[in-house]
Amino acid sequence: MTDAPLIPGALYGLRTWRPAADDAGGDRLTGAYDPTPWPDGGDWMHAACTAEGGHDPPDPECACGIHALHPSRRSARDVLASRREVAGVVEGAGAIQVHEEGFRAQRARPYALFVTPGRNARLVARLAERYDAELVEVEGPDGLLDWCRRRGLGLDQAVVDQLLGTDRAAARRVARRRRRRDALRVASALVVAGSLVGLGLAFVNGPHSPDGVYGRTGWVVPPRTTGCPPPAPTGVAQVPTTPSPDRC
Ligand SMILES: [Zn+2]
Repeated sequence: MTDAPLIPGALYGLRTWRPAADDAGGDRLTGAYDPTPWPDGGDWMHAACTAEGGHDPPDPECACGIHALHPSRRSARDVLASRREVAGVVEGAGAIQVHEEGFRAQRARPYALFVTPGRNARLVARLAERYDAELVEVEGPDGLLDWCRRRGLGLDQAVVDQLLGTDRAAARRVARRRRRRDALRVASALVVAGSLVGLGLAFVNGPHSPDGVYGRTGWVVPPRTTGCPPPAPTGVAQVPTTPSPDRC
């Protein structure tokens, strides 16, 4: 049995919708994975559970309910990432189950829709009007997050920690530190491996010098070749009787 807190009242979070055309050629919002159109005009979308047995969403033992993410730098970046979806703030109400990354609500409706540079601003504007949601222009994730904070929308990390319990928050911080440490170890190992490869190549090739080479015992200067034949007298062709050394 999970101990995720179940809270009553409205709660705001980030999510995306997929735009779709209705039978009359108008624009509707559907879930990213569920093609059911959301009710427009400020009406609520009610969650339904498709699990065997059925129960009222959100159930602690199930994944049902309308999902949203707590506003954070990461979630803001995630909801703006897909060009095929519309990012926005959803207002969740009824029974709401809070989790570390977000929440699941019994019912929800669009509260605000975001438009960013280079996206389909006209489509989002039509959807915002139809759904009675605020149209918000943001430059990117930081602007989105800043807008939410100024409006006091969503739960910040400290409140989530408080709701979920200090033990779980501490466990999460430990896990986060471990992930960072592991990532640093991998990065360090890659740097060391790269250095060794570079050093190995230096030994294989050796510095560019006509006087010596790197060998197993270190820098080796081979003895100079001597015995070059004397220059031929002017006007007399010389036919060598033995092969001339290369360095002559
Ligand atoms: Zn369920």
